[in-house]
Amino acid sequence: MRQQINGHTRLCGLIGNPVEHTMSPAIHNTLAAGEGRNLVYVPFHVEKGHLKQAVEGAYGLNVLGLNVTVPYKGEVIPFLKEIDEMAEKIGAVNTLVRTSGGFKGYNTDMMGLYRAMCSEHIEIEGEEIILLGAGGAARAVAFMCASKGAKRVWLLNRTLDKAKEVAEEVNQQLETDCIMPLAMEDYKKLPKDRRYLAIQATSVGLYPKVDEVVITDADFYQRIHTGFDLIYKPLETRFMSLVRAAGGRAFHGLKMLLYQGIIAYELWNQVSVSEEEAMAVYGQMKQEMGIEDKEKGKRKNIILIGFMGSGKTSVGVRLSYRLRRTMIDTDKTIERQNQMTISQIFERLGEEEFRQMETRCLERLLEESENQILSMGGGLPLKEENRRLLKQLGTVVYFRVTAETICARLADDTTRPLLQGDNPQEKVRTLLDARSSIYESAADIIIDVDNKDFDTILDEIIEKVGEE
Ligand code: NAP
Repeated sequence: MRQQINGHTRLCGLIGNPVEHTMSPAIHNTLAAGEGRNLVYVPFHVEKGHLKQAVEGAYGLNVLGLNVTVPYKGEVIPFLKEIDEMAEKIGAVNTLVRTSGGFKGYNTDMMGLYRAMCSEHIEIEGEEIILLGAGGAARAVAFMCASKGAKRVWLLNRTLDKAKEVAEEVNQQLETDCIMPLAMEDYKKLPKDRRYLAIQATSVGLYPKVDEVVITDADFYQRIHTGFDLIYKPLETRFMSLVRAAGGRAFHGLKMLLYQGIIAYELWNQVSVSEEEAMAVYGQMKQEMGIEDKEKGKRKNIILIGFMGSGKTSVGVRLSYRLRRTMIDTDKTIERQNQMTISQIFERLGEEEFRQMETRCLERLLEESENQILSMGGGLPLKEENRRLLKQLGTVVYFRVTAETICARLADDTTRPLLQGDNPQEKVRTLLDARSSIYESAADIIIDVDNKDFDTILDEIIEKVGEE
Protein backbone atom coordinates (compact mmCIF):
# COMPACT_ATOMS: atom_id res chain seq x y z
CA MET A 1 0.00 0.00 0.00
CA ARG A 2 1.29 3.49 -0.86
CA GLN A 3 2.39 5.65 2.07
CA GLN A 4 0.43 8.74 2.83
CA ILE A 5 2.23 11.89 1.65
CA ASN A 6 3.10 14.04 4.67
CA GLY A 7 5.84 16.28 6.03
CA HIS A 8 8.38 13.41 6.03
CA THR A 9 7.84 12.25 2.44
CA ARG A 10 11.06 12.07 0.41
CA LEU A 11 11.03 12.81 -3.29
CA CYS A 12 12.88 11.13 -6.15
CA GLY A 13 12.23 11.54 -9.83
CA LEU A 14 13.24 11.37 -13.45
CA ILE A 15 14.44 14.26 -15.59
CA GLY A 16 14.40 14.01 -19.36
CA ASN A 17 12.53 15.03 -22.47
CA PRO A 18 10.23 13.26 -23.14
CA VAL A 19 9.41 11.41 -19.90
CA GLU A 20 5.74 10.71 -20.41
CA HIS A 21 6.13 7.01 -21.29
CA THR A 22 8.54 6.05 -18.52
CA MET A 23 8.18 2.83 -16.51
CA SER A 24 10.39 4.14 -13.68
CA PRO A 25 7.56 5.29 -11.37
CA ALA A 26 6.25 1.68 -11.40
CA ILE A 27 9.70 0.47 -10.26
CA HIS A 28 10.38 2.98 -7.48
CA ASN A 29 6.88 3.47 -6.14
CA THR A 30 6.38 -0.32 -5.98
CA LEU A 31 9.68 -0.76 -4.14
CA ALA A 32 8.89 2.06 -1.70
CA ALA A 33 5.37 0.74 -1.06
CA GLY A 34 6.73 -2.80 -0.54
CA GLU A 35 9.22 -1.54 2.04
CA GLY A 36 6.78 0.84 3.69
CA ARG A 37 9.19 3.67 2.85
CA ASN A 38 7.82 7.21 2.80
CA LEU A 39 9.07 8.08 -0.69
CA VAL A 40 7.43 9.06 -3.95
CA TYR A 41 8.91 9.03 -7.45
CA VAL A 42 7.71 11.48 -10.10
CA PRO A 43 8.72 12.15 -13.74
CA PHE A 44 9.76 15.73 -14.60
CA HIS A 45 9.67 16.92 -18.20
CA VAL A 46 12.64 19.30 -18.47
CA GLU A 47 12.61 21.68 -21.43
CA LYS A 48 15.76 22.23 -23.46
CA GLY A 49 17.96 24.90 -21.85
CA HIS A 50 16.52 24.34 -18.36
CA LEU A 51 18.70 21.42 -17.26
CA LYS A 52 20.99 23.44 -14.96
CA GLN A 53 18.01 25.03 -13.15
CA ALA A 54 16.35 21.61 -12.90
CA VAL A 55 19.38 19.97 -11.20
CA GLU A 56 20.11 22.92 -8.91
CA GLY A 57 16.42 23.39 -8.13
CA ALA A 58 16.03 19.72 -7.24
CA TYR A 59 19.00 19.96 -4.89
CA GLY A 60 17.53 23.12 -3.35
CA LEU A 61 14.24 21.30 -2.82
CA ASN A 62 15.97 18.52 -0.87
CA VAL A 63 15.24 15.92 -3.58
CA LEU A 64 16.84 12.62 -2.55
CA GLY A 65 17.81 11.44 -6.01
CA LEU A 66 17.09 11.67 -9.73
CA ASN A 67 17.25 9.47 -12.76
CA VAL A 68 18.35 11.10 -15.98
CA THR A 69 17.20 10.02 -19.42
CA VAL A 70 17.61 11.16 -23.03
CA PRO A 71 18.77 13.69 -24.06
CA TYR A 72 20.52 14.71 -20.83
CA LYS A 73 22.73 11.75 -19.83
CA GLY A 74 25.90 13.50 -21.03
CA GLU A 75 24.74 17.10 -20.72
CA VAL A 76 24.06 16.75 -16.98
CA ILE A 77 27.72 16.03 -16.06
CA PRO A 78 28.89 19.68 -15.72
CA PHE A 79 26.17 20.30 -13.12
CA LEU A 80 27.31 17.55 -10.74
CA LYS A 81 29.44 17.91 -7.65
CA GLU A 82 31.04 14.52 -8.16
CA ILE A 83 30.98 11.64 -10.64
CA ASP A 84 31.56 7.92 -10.20
CA GLU A 85 34.74 6.71 -11.93
CA MET A 86 33.01 4.31 -14.36
CA ALA A 87 30.27 6.82 -15.23
CA GLU A 88 32.99 9.34 -16.00
CA LYS A 89 34.73 6.88 -18.31
CA ILE A 90 31.45 6.04 -20.04
CA GLY A 91 30.67 9.77 -20.31
CA ALA A 92 27.00 9.23 -19.39
CA VAL A 93 25.09 9.49 -16.12
CA ASN A 94 21.59 8.17 -15.50
CA THR A 95 21.39 8.42 -11.69
CA LEU A 96 22.05 11.40 -9.38
CA VAL A 97 22.55 10.72 -5.68
CA ARG A 98 22.26 13.51 -3.15
CA THR A 99 25.53 14.21 -1.30
CA SER A 100 26.68 17.12 0.81
CA GLY A 101 26.90 20.19 -1.46
CA GLY A 102 25.45 18.67 -4.69
CA PHE A 103 24.58 15.48 -6.60
CA LYS A 104 26.98 12.63 -7.42
CA GLY A 105 26.45 10.99 -10.83
CA TYR A 106 26.39 7.23 -11.54
CA ASN A 107 25.67 5.04 -14.55
CA THR A 108 23.38 2.24 -13.44
CA ASP A 109 22.41 1.27 -17.04
CA MET A 110 25.63 -0.65 -17.37
CA MET A 111 25.37 -2.33 -13.96
CA GLY A 112 21.67 -3.00 -14.63
CA LEU A 113 22.46 -4.84 -17.84
CA TYR A 114 25.11 -6.90 -16.09
CA ARG A 115 22.73 -7.84 -13.28
CA ALA A 116 20.00 -8.71 -15.81
CA MET A 117 22.44 -10.95 -17.69
CA CYS A 118 23.59 -12.64 -14.48
CA SER A 119 19.97 -13.34 -13.59
CA GLU A 120 19.55 -15.11 -16.96
CA HIS A 121 22.87 -16.97 -16.50
CA ILE A 122 24.46 -15.22 -19.48
CA GLU A 123 28.26 -15.23 -19.24
CA ILE A 124 30.38 -12.26 -20.31
CA GLU A 125 33.81 -13.37 -19.15
CA GLY A 126 35.78 -15.08 -21.92
CA GLU A 127 32.93 -14.62 -24.43
CA GLU A 128 33.06 -13.58 -28.08
CA ILE A 129 30.41 -10.85 -28.30
CA ILE A 130 28.72 -9.08 -31.20
CA LEU A 131 27.48 -5.66 -30.15
CA LEU A 132 25.07 -4.04 -32.60
CA GLY A 133 25.06 -0.23 -32.35
CA ALA A 134 27.39 2.53 -31.20
CA GLY A 135 24.98 5.01 -29.61
CA GLY A 136 24.75 6.03 -25.95
CA ALA A 137 23.50 2.65 -24.72
CA ALA A 138 25.98 0.64 -26.81
CA ARG A 139 28.85 2.68 -25.38
CA ALA A 140 27.85 1.66 -21.86
CA VAL A 141 27.45 -1.96 -23.01
CA ALA A 142 30.91 -1.92 -24.60
CA PHE A 143 32.37 -0.66 -21.28
CA MET A 144 30.49 -3.33 -19.37
CA CYS A 145 31.64 -6.16 -21.66
CA ALA A 146 35.26 -5.03 -21.65
CA SER A 147 35.34 -4.44 -17.89
CA LYS A 148 33.72 -7.84 -17.17
CA GLY A 149 36.37 -9.74 -19.12
CA ALA A 150 34.85 -10.38 -22.58
CA LYS A 151 37.40 -12.05 -24.85
CA ARG A 152 36.41 -9.92 -27.85
CA VAL A 153 33.61 -7.47 -28.66
CA TRP A 154 32.84 -6.99 -32.34
CA LEU A 155 31.23 -3.54 -32.43
CA LEU A 156 29.05 -3.29 -35.52
CA ASN A 157 27.43 0.00 -36.47
CA ARG A 158 25.76 1.51 -39.53
CA THR A 159 28.11 4.51 -39.22
CA LEU A 160 31.56 2.97 -39.07
CA ASP A 161 33.25 6.15 -37.78
CA LYS A 162 31.08 6.06 -34.66
CA ALA A 163 31.96 2.41 -34.06
CA LYS A 164 35.66 3.30 -34.39
CA GLU A 165 35.26 6.24 -32.03
CA VAL A 166 33.56 4.17 -29.33
CA ALA A 167 36.01 1.26 -29.74
CA GLU A 168 39.02 3.55 -29.45
CA GLU A 169 37.67 5.29 -26.39
CA VAL A 170 36.71 2.10 -24.51
CA ASN A 171 39.99 0.38 -25.41
CA GLN A 172 41.95 3.42 -24.26
CA GLN A 173 40.03 4.00 -21.04
CA LEU A 174 40.18 0.35 -19.98
CA GLU A 175 43.66 -0.30 -21.40
CA THR A 176 42.52 -3.18 -23.58
CA ASP A 177 42.26 -3.97 -27.28
CA CYS A 178 39.22 -6.22 -27.08
CA ILE A 179 36.74 -3.91 -28.85
CA MET A 180 36.93 -4.32 -32.65
CA PRO A 181 34.90 -1.88 -34.81
CA LEU A 182 33.20 -3.09 -37.98
CA ALA A 183 30.66 -1.62 -40.42
CA MET A 184 27.23 -3.24 -39.97
CA GLU A 185 27.16 -4.26 -43.65
CA ASP A 186 30.42 -6.20 -43.15
CA TYR A 187 28.92 -8.70 -40.70
CA LYS A 188 29.89 -11.54 -43.05
CA LYS A 189 33.52 -10.80 -42.20
CA LEU A 190 33.02 -11.99 -38.61
CA PRO A 191 35.06 -15.15 -37.93
CA LYS A 192 32.86 -18.14 -38.84
CA ASP A 193 34.48 -20.75 -36.62
CA ARG A 194 32.72 -19.67 -33.41
CA ARG A 195 29.31 -18.84 -31.92
CA TYR A 196 28.56 -15.51 -30.30
CA LEU A 197 26.58 -13.74 -27.63
CA ALA A 198 24.88 -10.90 -29.56
CA ILE A 199 23.68 -7.72 -27.84
CA GLN A 200 21.26 -5.59 -29.85
CA ALA A 201 21.77 -1.96 -28.78
CA THR A 202 20.44 -0.01 -31.76
CA SER A 203 17.01 1.62 -31.72
CA VAL A 204 15.91 -0.48 -34.73
CA GLY A 205 12.83 -2.61 -33.96
CA LEU A 206 11.53 -0.27 -31.26
CA TYR A 207 7.73 0.20 -31.12
CA PRO A 208 5.96 1.14 -33.39
CA LYS A 209 8.42 -0.05 -36.09
CA VAL A 210 8.39 -3.57 -34.71
CA ASP A 211 9.07 -5.30 -38.05
CA GLU A 212 12.51 -3.74 -38.44
CA VAL A 213 15.85 -5.36 -37.62
CA VAL A 214 19.42 -4.32 -38.50
CA ILE A 215 20.42 -7.66 -40.06
CA THR A 216 17.79 -9.83 -41.77
CA ASP A 217 20.09 -12.59 -43.08
CA ALA A 218 19.08 -15.88 -41.34
CA ASP A 219 22.68 -17.19 -41.74
CA PHE A 220 23.92 -14.49 -39.39
CA TYR A 221 21.65 -15.79 -36.63
CA GLN A 222 22.95 -19.34 -37.02
CA ARG A 223 26.13 -18.09 -35.37
CA ILE A 224 24.40 -16.69 -32.29
CA HIS A 225 23.90 -18.87 -29.21
CA THR A 226 22.29 -16.09 -27.15
CA GLY A 227 20.70 -12.81 -28.22
CA PHE A 228 19.95 -9.94 -25.82
CA ASP A 229 17.92 -7.02 -27.13
CA LEU A 230 18.03 -3.83 -25.06
CA ILE A 231 14.61 -2.94 -26.44
CA TYR A 232 11.67 -3.90 -24.21
CA LYS A 233 8.84 -2.50 -26.27
CA PRO A 234 7.81 -4.82 -27.83
CA LEU A 235 8.82 -7.66 -25.50
CA GLU A 236 9.43 -9.89 -28.54
CA THR A 237 11.49 -8.04 -31.15
CA ARG A 238 12.22 -9.26 -34.65
CA PHE A 239 15.87 -9.65 -33.61
CA MET A 240 14.77 -12.02 -30.82
CA SER A 241 12.54 -14.01 -33.18
CA LEU A 242 15.40 -14.46 -35.64
CA VAL A 243 17.73 -15.65 -32.87
CA ARG A 244 15.12 -18.13 -31.64
CA ALA A 245 14.29 -19.32 -35.15
CA ALA A 246 17.98 -20.23 -35.55
CA GLY A 247 17.89 -22.21 -32.30
CA GLY A 248 19.40 -19.64 -29.90
CA ARG A 249 18.12 -18.22 -26.60
CA ALA A 250 16.75 -14.68 -26.71
CA PHE A 251 16.01 -12.03 -24.08
CA HIS A 252 14.42 -8.56 -24.07
CA GLY A 253 15.58 -5.45 -22.21
CA LEU A 254 12.89 -5.22 -19.51
CA LYS A 255 15.09 -6.79 -16.82
CA MET A 256 17.88 -4.34 -17.68
CA LEU A 257 15.41 -1.52 -17.07
CA LEU A 258 14.31 -3.18 -13.82
CA TYR A 259 17.83 -3.58 -12.44
CA GLN A 260 19.09 -0.13 -13.45
CA GLY A 261 16.15 1.20 -11.41
CA ILE A 262 16.79 -1.12 -8.50
CA ILE A 263 20.47 -0.12 -8.34
CA ALA A 264 19.45 3.56 -8.32
CA TYR A 265 16.95 2.85 -5.52
CA GLU A 266 19.67 1.05 -3.54
CA LEU A 267 22.03 4.01 -3.97
CA TRP A 268 19.43 6.55 -2.85
CA ASN A 269 18.18 4.60 0.14
CA GLN A 270 21.33 2.72 1.17
CA VAL A 271 19.49 -0.60 1.13
CA SER A 272 19.87 -3.90 -0.68
CA VAL A 273 16.85 -5.09 -2.69
CA SER A 274 16.34 -8.87 -2.57
CA GLU A 275 15.64 -10.98 -5.67
CA GLU A 276 12.18 -11.67 -4.28
CA GLU A 277 11.40 -7.94 -4.13
CA ALA A 278 12.97 -7.45 -7.57
CA MET A 279 10.68 -10.09 -9.07
CA ALA A 280 7.63 -8.50 -7.43
CA VAL A 281 8.53 -5.21 -9.13
CA TYR A 282 9.15 -7.05 -12.40
CA GLY A 283 5.65 -8.53 -12.20
CA GLN A 284 4.24 -5.05 -11.65
CA MET A 285 6.12 -3.73 -14.71
CA LYS A 286 4.87 -6.58 -16.87
CA GLN A 287 1.36 -6.03 -15.64
CA GLU A 288 1.58 -2.36 -16.62
CA MET A 289 2.76 -3.36 -20.08
CA GLY A 290 0.06 -6.01 -20.28
CA ILE A 291 -2.63 -3.51 -19.37
CA GLU A 292 -1.37 -1.23 -22.10
CA ASP A 293 -1.49 -4.05 -24.64
CA LYS A 294 -4.89 -5.14 -23.45
CA GLU A 295 -6.20 -1.67 -24.11
CA LYS A 296 -5.24 -2.28 -27.72
CA GLY A 297 -7.17 -5.53 -27.62
CA LYS A 298 -4.09 -7.68 -28.17
CA ARG A 299 -3.67 -9.55 -24.91
CA LYS A 300 -5.00 -12.27 -22.70
CA ASN A 301 -5.61 -14.66 -25.59
CA ILE A 302 -4.52 -18.25 -25.05
CA ILE A 303 -3.03 -19.58 -28.26
CA LEU A 304 -2.73 -23.30 -28.89
CA ILE A 305 -0.05 -24.55 -31.28
CA GLY A 306 1.25 -28.00 -32.13
CA PHE A 307 1.35 -30.74 -34.69
CA MET A 308 -1.82 -31.98 -36.37
CA GLY A 309 -3.54 -34.46 -34.08
CA SER A 310 -1.96 -33.03 -30.92
CA GLY A 311 -5.40 -32.08 -29.58
CA LYS A 312 -5.54 -28.34 -30.16
CA THR A 313 -9.16 -28.35 -31.28
CA SER A 314 -10.54 -30.89 -28.83
CA VAL A 315 -8.72 -29.34 -25.86
CA GLY A 316 -9.45 -25.82 -27.15
CA VAL A 317 -13.20 -26.41 -27.19
CA ARG A 318 -13.14 -27.74 -23.61
CA LEU A 319 -10.89 -24.87 -22.48
CA SER A 320 -13.22 -22.29 -24.00
CA TYR A 321 -16.13 -23.92 -22.16
CA ARG A 322 -14.27 -24.02 -18.85
CA LEU A 323 -12.96 -20.43 -19.07
CA ARG A 324 -16.19 -19.16 -20.68
CA ARG A 325 -14.33 -17.70 -23.60
CA THR A 326 -15.02 -17.97 -27.30
CA MET A 327 -12.71 -20.09 -29.42
CA ILE A 328 -11.41 -19.38 -32.88
CA ASP A 329 -9.79 -22.03 -35.07
CA THR A 330 -7.65 -20.51 -37.86
CA ASP A 331 -8.11 -23.51 -40.21
CA LYS A 332 -11.90 -23.36 -39.86
CA THR A 333 -11.90 -19.55 -40.28
CA ILE A 334 -9.90 -19.84 -43.50
CA GLU A 335 -12.13 -22.65 -44.80
CA ARG A 336 -15.23 -20.57 -44.09
CA GLN A 337 -13.84 -17.41 -45.67
CA ASN A 338 -12.76 -19.24 -48.83
CA GLN A 339 -15.66 -21.66 -49.04
CA MET A 340 -13.15 -24.48 -49.53
CA THR A 341 -11.64 -27.15 -47.34
CA ILE A 342 -7.92 -26.91 -46.49
CA SER A 343 -7.28 -29.84 -48.85
CA GLN A 344 -9.02 -27.98 -51.67
CA ILE A 345 -7.03 -24.78 -50.96
CA PHE A 346 -3.78 -26.78 -51.08
CA GLU A 347 -4.88 -28.47 -54.29
CA ARG A 348 -6.23 -25.45 -56.15
CA LEU A 349 -4.18 -22.53 -54.82
CA GLY A 350 -1.06 -24.17 -53.39
CA GLU A 351 0.56 -24.22 -49.95
CA GLU A 352 2.20 -20.79 -50.30
CA GLU A 353 -1.17 -19.11 -50.81
CA PHE A 354 -2.56 -20.98 -47.78
CA ARG A 355 0.36 -19.78 -45.62
CA GLN A 356 -0.37 -16.20 -46.69
CA MET A 357 -4.00 -16.68 -45.72
CA GLU A 358 -2.81 -17.77 -42.27
CA THR A 359 -0.72 -14.59 -41.88
CA ARG A 360 -3.66 -12.41 -42.91
CA CYS A 361 -5.86 -14.29 -40.46
CA LEU A 362 -3.38 -13.56 -37.61
CA GLU A 363 -3.18 -9.90 -38.57
CA ARG A 364 -6.94 -9.66 -38.35
CA LEU A 365 -6.97 -11.41 -34.98
CA LEU A 366 -4.41 -8.90 -33.74
CA GLU A 367 -6.85 -6.12 -34.54
CA GLU A 368 -9.91 -7.81 -33.09
CA SER A 369 -9.12 -10.61 -30.70
CA GLU A 370 -9.14 -10.30 -26.93
CA ASN A 371 -9.66 -12.88 -24.18
CA GLN A 372 -10.20 -15.73 -26.63
CA ILE A 373 -8.89 -19.24 -27.14
CA LEU A 374 -7.12 -19.34 -30.50
CA SER A 375 -6.31 -22.70 -32.05
CA MET A 376 -3.67 -22.48 -34.77
CA GLY A 377 -3.13 -24.65 -37.86
CA GLY A 378 -0.23 -27.09 -37.41
CA GLY A 379 2.06 -25.42 -39.98
CA LEU A 380 1.24 -21.82 -39.01
CA PRO A 381 4.15 -21.25 -36.56
CA LEU A 382 6.69 -22.37 -39.17
CA LYS A 383 6.68 -18.93 -40.73
CA GLU A 384 8.82 -16.48 -38.76
CA GLU A 385 6.42 -13.60 -39.35
CA ASN A 386 3.60 -15.70 -37.89
CA ARG A 387 5.63 -16.51 -34.76
CA ARG A 388 6.09 -12.80 -34.14
CA LEU A 389 2.39 -12.16 -34.56
CA LEU A 390 1.60 -15.02 -32.16
CA LYS A 391 3.74 -13.45 -29.43
CA GLN A 392 1.84 -10.20 -29.79
CA LEU A 393 -1.50 -11.98 -29.61
CA GLY A 394 -1.13 -13.52 -26.18
CA THR A 395 0.27 -16.56 -24.34
CA VAL A 396 1.38 -19.32 -26.71
CA VAL A 397 0.87 -22.88 -25.45
CA TYR A 398 2.58 -25.71 -27.35
CA PHE A 399 1.06 -29.21 -27.18
CA ARG A 400 4.11 -31.47 -27.37
CA VAL A 401 3.32 -34.99 -28.52
CA THR A 402 5.23 -38.02 -29.79
CA ALA A 403 5.01 -39.39 -33.34
CA GLU A 404 3.53 -42.63 -32.00
CA THR A 405 0.55 -40.86 -30.44
CA ILE A 406 -0.09 -38.84 -33.58
CA CYS A 407 0.09 -41.90 -35.82
CA ALA A 408 -2.39 -43.71 -33.59
CA ARG A 409 -4.77 -40.72 -33.57
CA LEU A 410 -4.58 -40.00 -37.31
CA ALA A 411 -4.57 -43.59 -38.53
CA ASP A 412 -7.96 -43.24 -40.26
CA ASP A 413 -7.90 -39.55 -41.10
CA THR A 414 -7.88 -38.90 -44.87
CA THR A 415 -8.53 -35.15 -44.67
CA ARG A 416 -4.96 -34.05 -43.92
CA PRO A 417 -3.24 -32.96 -47.18
CA LEU A 418 0.27 -33.32 -45.81
CA LEU A 419 -0.35 -36.96 -44.90
CA GLN A 420 -1.59 -38.24 -48.22
CA GLY A 421 0.51 -40.72 -50.20
CA ASP A 422 2.78 -43.59 -49.15
CA ASN A 423 4.01 -44.23 -45.64
CA PRO A 424 2.28 -41.44 -43.68
CA GLN A 425 3.87 -42.65 -40.41
CA GLU A 426 7.33 -41.90 -41.74
CA LYS A 427 6.08 -38.51 -42.92
CA VAL A 428 4.79 -37.69 -39.41
CA ARG A 429 8.14 -38.59 -37.84
CA THR A 430 10.12 -36.50 -40.33
CA LEU A 431 7.79 -33.51 -40.05
CA LEU A 432 7.71 -33.69 -36.26
CA ASP A 433 11.52 -33.82 -36.09
CA ALA A 434 11.76 -30.78 -38.33
CA ARG A 435 9.10 -28.80 -36.50
CA SER A 436 9.50 -29.51 -32.80
CA SER A 437 12.29 -26.99 -32.12
CA ILE A 438 10.34 -24.32 -34.02
CA TYR A 439 7.22 -24.98 -31.96
CA GLU A 440 9.31 -24.82 -28.78
CA SER A 441 10.88 -21.51 -29.77
CA ALA A 442 7.42 -20.05 -30.50
CA ALA A 443 5.94 -21.18 -27.18
CA ASP A 444 5.63 -19.43 -23.82
CA ILE A 445 4.42 -22.66 -22.22
CA ILE A 446 4.97 -26.29 -23.23
CA ILE A 447 2.50 -29.02 -22.24
CA ASP A 448 3.37 -32.68 -22.81
CA VAL A 449 0.04 -34.17 -23.84
CA ASP A 450 0.84 -37.89 -24.38
CA ASN A 451 -1.28 -40.23 -22.26
CA LYS A 452 -3.06 -37.38 -20.44
CA ASP A 453 -6.82 -36.98 -20.21
CA PHE A 454 -8.54 -33.72 -21.06
CA ASP A 455 -9.02 -32.58 -17.45
CA THR A 456 -5.33 -33.03 -16.63
CA ILE A 457 -4.31 -31.02 -19.71
CA LEU A 458 -6.85 -28.27 -18.94
CA ASP A 459 -5.68 -28.02 -15.31
CA GLU A 460 -2.08 -27.76 -16.47
CA ILE A 461 -2.83 -25.02 -19.00
CA ILE A 462 -4.89 -23.00 -16.53
CA GLU A 463 -2.24 -23.29 -13.83
CA LYS A 464 0.63 -22.32 -16.13
CA VAL A 465 -1.20 -19.48 -17.90
CA GLY A 466 -2.41 -18.23 -14.54
CA GLU A 467 -6.12 -18.02 -15.45
CA GLU A 468 -9.49 -18.73 -13.83
P1 NAP B 1 21.11 6.30 -29.74
O1 NAP B 1 22.22 6.90 -28.96
O2 NAP B 1 20.19 7.19 -30.50
O3 NAP B 1 21.79 5.24 -30.77
C1 NAP B 1 21.03 4.66 -31.79
C2 NAP B 1 21.83 3.52 -32.43
O4 NAP B 1 20.95 2.87 -33.36
C3 NAP B 1 23.04 3.97 -33.23
O5 NAP B 1 24.02 2.97 -33.20
C4 NAP B 1 22.46 4.09 -34.65
O6 NAP B 1 23.43 3.93 -35.68
C5 NAP B 1 21.54 2.91 -34.66
N1 NAP B 1 20.50 3.08 -35.66
C6 NAP B 1 19.43 3.92 -35.60
N2 NAP B 1 18.67 3.79 -36.72
C7 NAP B 1 19.28 2.85 -37.49
C8 NAP B 1 18.98 2.25 -38.75
N3 NAP B 1 17.89 2.60 -39.43
N4 NAP B 1 19.82 1.30 -39.23
C9 NAP B 1 20.93 0.92 -38.54
N5 NAP B 1 21.25 1.43 -37.33
C10 NAP B 1 20.45 2.40 -36.82
O7 NAP B 1 20.17 5.41 -28.84
P2 NAP B 1 20.57 4.69 -27.44
O8 NAP B 1 20.30 5.61 -26.31
O9 NAP B 1 21.91 4.11 -27.59
O10 NAP B 1 19.44 3.54 -27.34
C11 NAP B 1 19.48 2.39 -28.19
C12 NAP B 1 18.34 1.45 -27.82
O11 NAP B 1 18.55 0.87 -26.53
C13 NAP B 1 16.98 2.13 -27.75
O12 NAP B 1 16.04 1.34 -28.44
C14 NAP B 1 16.63 2.18 -26.28
O13 NAP B 1 15.24 2.03 -26.08
C15 NAP B 1 17.37 0.95 -25.75
N6 NAP B 1 17.75 1.12 -24.32
C16 NAP B 1 17.22 0.24 -23.42
C17 NAP B 1 17.56 0.36 -22.08
C18 NAP B 1 16.96 -0.60 -21.08
O14 NAP B 1 16.98 -0.32 -19.88
N7 NAP B 1 16.46 -1.74 -21.50
C19 NAP B 1 18.44 1.35 -21.65
C20 NAP B 1 18.98 2.22 -22.60
C21 NAP B 1 18.63 2.09 -23.94
P3 NAP B 1 24.22 5.21 -36.31
O15 NAP B 1 25.32 5.50 -35.34
O16 NAP B 1 24.68 4.72 -37.62
O17 NAP B 1 23.19 6.32 -36.40
